[in-house]
Amino acid sequence: MQIKKIIKQAIKRLEREGKILTPDFYAEAFCKEAKLAGVKVDDCSHVEKMLLSLNPDLQKELKNYRIQTLAELSRYLIAKLNRTDKIKCAEQLDAQTELNIATLKAIALLHNLQARDLAKKTIEVISKPHSAAEVEYFKQLWNNFAQTYDDTFLEKLKPFGTVDTKDLQKTIEGLDVGVVEKKQECDLKNVVSLFISSFTPSISAHVSQNIESLTQKLERNPQALLEDSLQDEIKQAIASRIALDKKSVQEMVESLEGILDKLSNRLINMIEHSDGSTNEIQRIKKELESFTKEGEINFQLAHKKLYTIAIALEENTIEFRSDLEGHSFEVRQLQKRVKELEGELKKAQKEAKIDFLTNLYNKRALDEFLRIREGEFKRYGRNYTVVIFDIDHFKKVNDTYGHEAGDVILKSFASILRRDSRDIDVVGRFGGEEFLVILGDTDADGGALYAKKVNEHVKRAKFLYKGSRIPITVSAGVAQRKNASSAAETIANADKLLYKAKEEGRDRVVFE
Ligand code: GH3
Ligand code: MG
Ligand code: MG
Repeated sequence: MQIKKIIKQAIKRLEREGKILTPDFYAEAFCKEAKLAGVKVDDCSHVEKMLLSLNPDLQKELKNYRIQTLAELSRYLIAKLNRTDKIKCAEQLDAQTELNIATLKAIALLHNLQARDLAKKTIEVISKPHSAAEVEYFKQLWNNFAQTYDDTFLEKLKPFGTVDTKDLQKTIEGLDVGVVEKKQECDLKNVVSLFISSFTPSISAHVSQNIESLTQKLERNPQALLEDSLQDEIKQAIASRIALDKKSVQEMVESLEGILDKLSNRLINMIEHSDGSTNEIQRIKKELESFTKEGEINFQLAHKKLYTIAIALEENTIEFRSDLEGHSFEVRQLQKRVKELEGELKKAQKEAKIDFLTNLYNKRALDEFLRIREGEFKRYGRNYTVVIFDIDHFKKVNDTYGHEAGDVILKSFASILRRDSRDIDVVGRFGGEEFLVILGDTDADGGALYAKKVNEHVKRAKFLYKGSRIPITVSAGVAQRKNASSAAETIANADKLLYKAKEEGRDRVVFE
């Protein structure tokens, strides 16, 4: 009964919708009316059931087409099957696999050991014929990787700049690695200042040329400290610092000795002018006598003696005062005499080292310098060169122009030597018309260059005496310490070469 009513309603619906009575239209209208009437008809839910058994994508697609009947569904599926091209499908699958492999290769390059291994294994599997289970297995591994991947290591870079977790390149470019370099440079500056103070003389007031140039070099560029080539320079600077300080200490000891001598003389004078009755005076007198008898006095001993004398003086000042007051005129006289003696002493000391005619070092001073250079050679291996100059036919000059003219020439030659030498060279008169120059840190070739320069200057110089020009030439022998076994042998070698220069015709330099 109900069915008949539904059939009627369905036909009316078709008339209403202006549709002709085809089986499909009828079935559609019948199902709609049955649904309205609340009657469940199996035939009407066939399509729905069929749709639900299809894959979800296809279900969605079919929904858009508003498939209502089984016939529509079959038509749609047949049409879809007809459209499917087997070759194209295979191509698409291959292309997808290629894309997967390319992606995995890129992952293998991403500096992550775990991802790289996994990518390589996955490429192996999908490059060969493989099962769905294998693909599923690797899909699981990739899922695990993605879930457990930990990039918190990037946190460690944060103190050095902004970390961009999406672009590591950007992060690296933004890192302030300069902080570390600057610190290094800063440390190096400290080390350089330590080095500079290690080769700057602390006792001597003088600084040698090599110390000065090394200091400037390091101050300008602290990085230079790391260069191997600088090590020799540093060694040499330290060696000359030691030599300079040593020399200063020696000079200080000498001057202390001088003070000590003067002080003891003064005291002895004073004691001698007093009546010498007290025991204490006798004791000091004896002590002073024993001091002055001693030979070599070192710095510490000299200091100790001065201190002892100062204390003794202090103790006896009160005792002396009354006596001294009575002898004030005498004391003043004494002071005057002491001053005079001091001046004489100074002069004598200077003269003991300086040649009176030329003002160059004398033989004694030359020997002393030679000892110092020899010490440096033995201890630090610092080579030196000696040059002996001898004025040619000097006897004839004396004979022709007189001894006085000879003296003027010796003085003029000395000033040429001084002008052509460096401050650190030791220039002295060896005796008569022979001169010796000690060139520190110089080899025979360097010495020859120097001697030739002097030889040229002498030739060109105008040695004038009482208006007439006296032509002068000079011969030289040059020998370096390295080629001898002692300082004396070096001098002897230079002398032999000078002799050779004379033999070969004079006015020349002969060197090793
Ligand atoms: P040679 O070229 O071989 O060196 O010949 P020379 O005449 O220079 O050598 P020699 O050794 O025969 O003579 C050196 C002379 O130098 C002899 C001496 O009178 C002179 N002489 C040495 N000391 C002085 C000085 O202080 N003043 C002067 N005027 N002459 C001096
Ligand atoms: Mg001579
Ligand atoms: Mg001569």
